Amino acid sequence: MDYILATHNLKKRDELQRILSPLGIKVHLAEDLGIELTDAEETGTTFEENAYIKAESGCRESGYPCIADDSGLSVDYLDGAPGVYSARYSGVHGNDEENNKKVLRELEGVPFEKRGASFISAVCCVYPDGRILRTRGECRGRIGFEPVGEGGFGYDPLFMAEKYDYKLSTAQLTAEQKDAISHRGAALRELASLIGE
Ligand code: IMP
Repeated sequence: MDYILATHNLKKRDELQRILSPLGIKVHLAEDLGIELTDAEETGTTFEENAYIKAESGCRESGYPCIADDSGLSVDYLDGAPGVYSARYSGVHGNDEENNKKVLRELEGVPFEKRGASFISAVCCVYPDGRILRTRGECRGRIGFEPVGEGGFGYDPLFMAEKYDYKLSTAQLTAEQKDAISHRGAALRELASLIGE
């Protein structure tokens, strides 16, 4: 069965494809099938709601089963912020540099042990026959004091991964290393196993 992805974030799209394709899930970009998806408005208050909004709209508009991820950073000290507002935390949608600066400003003076955070990914797949699959993945880390590393996207340069003893940011990991520990990797591997059932 062929699936389409509902996301306009190019980096996220790369991750979705590179994780799902080797698991045997045939994922296409809507435009590769000659379909233009409208940008569904993310009006939900949770990652799960927004993932469903995007997957449902993509499926309805394309007629294909549609997979969407809604994800973000949740900082313990900030009571879960930026959360569902991760992509637009600084006020400008998708401005990673400004978003990162804002997180660093909000954590000024907070010691490393208190800078715990999670990346969260809610994944939803909606089928034309109405079936819905949902999974969720989480990756723990701490927010560093300055951006480090060139890889990844978004908050990766600030996110010191617990699995690497907080010594490397997820922007310093190879694609394979990040996928193996990431929130998105976990949620998508679970989705692939549900699809395979
Ligand atoms: P979405 O496209 O509405 O799901 O927004 C996701 C936002 O969360 C991105 O723009 C990033 O700021 C952040 N984010 C989600 N996943 C990651 C990740 O794997 N690394 C870094 N930032 C991420």
